[in-house]
Amino acid sequence: MAEILVLGAGMVGIGAALALQARGHAVTVVDRRGPGEETSFGNAGVLQAEAMEPYAMPRDLPTLLRYALGRSNDVVWSLRDLPGIAPALLAYFRASAPERHARISKTYAQLITRVLSDHGSLIEAAGADNLVRRTGLGEIYRTARAFDAAYARAEKKATRYSLRLRALDSTELAPEEPAIAGEMAGALIWGDSWSCSDPGGLVTSYAQLFQNRGGRLLQGDAQTLERAGTGWRVDTCTGPVDAQHAVIALGPWSGPLLSRFGYRVRMLLMRGYHTHVSNTPELSRPYLDAEHGYVMSSMRDGLRLTTGAEFVRQDRPQSRRQLDRALRAAGELLAADMSAEGKLWHGHRPFRPDMLPLVGPAPRHKGLWFDFGHGHHGFTLGPTTGELLAAQLEGDTPPAAQSLLAAACL
Ligand SMILES: Cc1cc2nc3c(=O)[nH]c(=O)nc-3n(C[C@H](O)[C@H](O)[C@H](O)COP(=O)(O)OP(=O)(O)OC[C@H]3O[C@@H](n4cnc5c(N)ncnc54)[C@H](O)[C@@H]3O)c2cc1C
Repeated sequence: MAEILVLGAGMVGIGAALALQARGHAVTVVDRRGPGEETSFGNAGVLQAEAMEPYAMPRDLPTLLRYALGRSNDVVWSLRDLPGIAPALLAYFRASAPERHARISKTYAQLITRVLSDHGSLIEAAGADNLVRRTGLGEIYRTARAFDAAYARAEKKATRYSLRLRALDSTELAPEEPAIAGEMAGALIWGDSWSCSDPGGLVTSYAQLFQNRGGRLLQGDAQTLERAGTGWRVDTCTGPVDAQHAVIALGPWSGPLLSRFGYRVRMLLMRGYHTHVSNTPELSRPYLDAEHGYVMSSMRDGLRLTTGAEFVRQDRPQSRRQLDRALRAAGELLAADMSAEGKLWHGHRPFRPDMLPLVGPAPRHKGLWFDFGHGHHGFTLGPTTGELLAAQLEGDTPPAAQSLLAAACL
């Protein structure tokens, strides 16, 4: 049994803490806030069992032009911040070349294949079933051209990975989703995916499970992490805590901490927003409104609209441009009044240009471990990468962890 510090109490940190604890280690999680209050709070809440391939950067000229000209709502960017992110964008562009993307997808699929079973056992043990819907994920296409192209791609993916896929036109969708009244060409329904009506609440219930099983959750600043003898020390509200191992699971904040230890971690922080609209009809599952670049999902606090990626520096003020477009588009689709809007939230997807999270030992510091960079799918992947990390900490490197380990050797 080892003493282990996990820095960060998002889905990734709590997932790692539970996996390490299950192997008999004494685990202390440290966060400056409560569990699941940052990126793991604000996401679309989809446990994306269909996401066998990570999102590649489109490489065709028409799409790149649409992005460049600001005509797309799924990706927007700011000219003044472009120079700072250009090297990471270029690396992402290169990694998105078909052959490389296919190789990366092999690793990704090995992770995604097990996410439902990793979440499933935690949901059951945490008694969190009331937060989870097992009704799939929908994609809505307004135009026949976009629908036909998406269906062709989706069918290939469904066959390759044995995923459940249905293609419905609006009359076929209507009985199962009466709230969707606007015009559309068709919808794709990925039957395997699950979703959550309170993403922060799911992390909190996992954190409660961790504490019920004897784990410690303390408030503290990860920036105080330092070497202490052969181990690690961090300051917490109850004083310094020492441990043999420290796991960095700080999501978008992992890079700045690691720069203190000489690691230059390349990450693209893709900003996303959400807001909730009350008095809207309930949806049975989340939907991506594909040509308008947002996801809508019924949550505890109302209908949550989450936006695509905004490429801006982490400290830039909020902008409403993507969300306003999403609100207009959702209003059309649901034929609903979208004016009863709640607070505007934003956070950053901690995305690595090679599309894989960093999970494994820090190459130059004994007892220091990485578990971050989960990009678009950290809510889905947290428990799974936690299992891989826990296996590696005990000297076992499962096949799915090999590439993540290689990536960790910066
Ligand atoms: C708009 C949007 C929609 C998304 N939708 C989905 C989705 O549907 N499905 C999906 O799988 N993923 C989704 N994602 C991605 C997912 O939310 C992230 O990948 C995931 O939440 C990352 O989890 P994390 O634990 O690494 O980071 P976080 O949840 O951000 O946790 C990091 C923790 O570190 C703590 N911390 C930071 N600095 C310090 C410090 N100095 N000291 C102590 N603690 C510190 C923070 O307080 C925080 O609790 C979405 C993301 C966005 C932005």
